[in-house]
Amino acid sequence: MLGGYKRARRPASPAFSTSCQENCLRALLYLWAAPASAVGLVFALAARATGAQMALVQGTLEVAGGRVGPAVDRLPRCLQFHAITFGHVIIATDERLLAACRAHEQVHVRQYERWGVFFFPLYLGSSLVQLVLGRDPYRDNHFERQAYRDSEDGSRSR
Ligand SMILES: [Zn+2]
Repeated sequence: MLGGYKRARRPASPAFSTSCQENCLRALLYLWAAPASAVGLVFALAARATGAQMALVQGTLEVAGGRVGPAVDRLPRCLQFHAITFGHVIIATDERLLAACRAHEQVHVRQYERWGVFFFPLYLGSSLVQLVLGRDPYRDNHFERQAYRDSEDGSRSR
């Protein structure tokens, strides 16, 4: 072959293509987790009505403060939390605790993105299995262990 010339293909704008693929993937992840996010949105709007603050942080709607803390205090001890995640919605009792729990809750967001609405029964099933085995249904829950392992904070959250 004369000169070893190899016909170069014109690149199909790889930066744009990659960005487009990433955006499409992100959109699918939000759609997949949307049923759980809808549940969170109901709680978020109720919290907002009591004076909680809302902010978009790291791709999630974070809600904290207002009367969330006093409402959580009325729950049975085993159901109390500092922060809880539903899809792409994180609800916390106050801003300080939200900041402390953010990394842990973001792991739960990734779990919702993986499992979608099936996260609810899987989470409850994991807690039930741990309870039957005589273990802590919260600390020994598969998803909680993963969230504590993959985040840097060890604060109490759900
Ligand atoms: Zn958790």
